[in-house]
Amino acid sequence: MTDENQEQRLRNILFNSLDAFVGVDHNGLVTEWNQQAANIFGWSYDEAIGQNMAEIIIPERLRDAHQQGMQRFLQSGHTEMLNRRIQLEAKRKTGEEFPIEMAITYISNADTHEFYAFIQDISSRKIEEQKLRFLASNDPLTGVRNRSYFNTNLPEAMARSRRSDKSLALMYLDIDHFKSINDSLGHEAGDSLLKEFATRLKATLREADIVSRIGGDEFTVIIEGVYSEEDASKVASNIIQELNKGGWLGTSDLKITTSIGIAIYDGRAIDADKLVALADKAMYKAKHSGRNNFKLLRFEDIETSIEEKSHPRDPASIMNTQNLLSIQHNSGDNFLQNTLSALRRHLDMDVAFISHFHDGVREFRFVDSKDLNPPIAVGGSGSLEDSYCQRVIDGRLPEIINDAFELPEAMSMEVTALVPVRAHMSVPIKLSDGKIYGTFCCFSYTPDQTLNERDISIMHVFADLIAQHL
Ligand code: GH3
Ligand code: MG
Repeated sequence: MTDENQEQRLRNILFNSLDAFVGVDHNGLVTEWNQQAANIFGWSYDEAIGQNMAEIIIPERLRDAHQQGMQRFLQSGHTEMLNRRIQLEAKRKTGEEFPIEMAITYISNADTHEFYAFIQDISSRKIEEQKLRFLASNDPLTGVRNRSYFNTNLPEAMARSRRSDKSLALMYLDIDHFKSINDSLGHEAGDSLLKEFATRLKATLREADIVSRIGGDEFTVIIEGVYSEEDASKVASNIIQELNKGGWLGTSDLKITTSIGIAIYDGRAIDADKLVALADKAMYKAKHSGRNNFKLLRFEDIETSIEEKSHPRDPASIMNTQNLLSIQHNSGDNFLQNTLSALRRHLDMDVAFISHFHDGVREFRFVDSKDLNPPIAVGGSGSLEDSYCQRVIDGRLPEIINDAFELPEAMSMEVTALVPVRAHMSVPIKLSDGKIYGTFCCFSYTPDQTLNERDISIMHVFADLIAQHL
């Protein structure tokens, strides 16, 4: 093969290369421009040859730096740009900027200096990289931050708060009755609502507040620079107000609400897990007090809250509480009243009572209530047949009722809707001769899906203890 043929062959290879191939002389004028260069930059061979390369493919803002780099190299021979892959921004004929990766080679002959570059358009690679980066810290469904980002960001935000004179508020939100949305409208509509929830949540917050979806229908918000509890409460009310405006999924008949727990971090030495547990606890309080509202817990509440959360209703943990110690030092009626109160608080129920069965009625002997006006009072009585107590004893109702509204038997009783009775637990109190004295019961005005076998077993233990003191 002659030299001329060989050169032609090489030119063909370069011309058809999958990389753009661009040659530039020492004046910066284009000497080589293959098909792929025409494809990615948009200038044809005829348009590009002889043009100042910088003017046609380098964005204006980068041109000075490019010219200076070229001059420096020609004078000193030093450059970081040669013989390695470098990534930078280039420009198409349309003016659109895009990322490229290029490798530059320099060839000099006597008084000619030429630069040759192999160039790839890496726009799609960059988009993929961006997507991966996004997914590493964001929730793909709603676009807000994900649990992993939240877990990293919260301790950092707490450290910033420690160094400043302002507090941090952590909000824990859980959408109310979200399961029923999925059940009635389908999972897809549920997904759309989660997206809309995230959008509306963000719309009520400042840009700097960090919203994360940390599980199914659970979200958190980190608010830095909080001056007071009122600040944080105001933000929570705004969120609740915004959600209550309705208009979900463009319809007027959907009602979506949330329960919000707020924990305030004022820079004292606690770790992020404890702060999250506190906000979670506050959220459960908001659920228990009827949903569509918020509750705030303070640092002072932390120790007891965390203890309750990490050993929920664990018989062993309640045996260790101050409550029980104080109970044991009492006697008689005091003992029974204190036991009732300690158990009710431990189980987080609204009302607890000890009843006595006699003459076909059930009489309330001891009552303890979260609020000042319980629907039942000591000395009050009612027909045994109309009571939950009797129906639990004969097996018509279960000992643990998470939501009475879901049980036809409970709904057939007037009292259920009247009080209302939602979560309910009842165990018989058996005297030493085996006779049933009455029952030890507690109930709440809202459902409680967390009540379980462990809770009822502790009620049984205490019913035995109560029997010994009657
Ligand atoms: P509560 O008021 O006590 O919070 O009642 P809830 O029905 O919202 O109960 P919970 O918060 O425990 O249930 C959340 C539900 O969210 C459970 C699951 O069916 C649903 N869920 C979780 N992840 C997704 C998701 O990605 N898409 C959809 N559509 N639903 C989800
Ligand atoms: Mg929920």
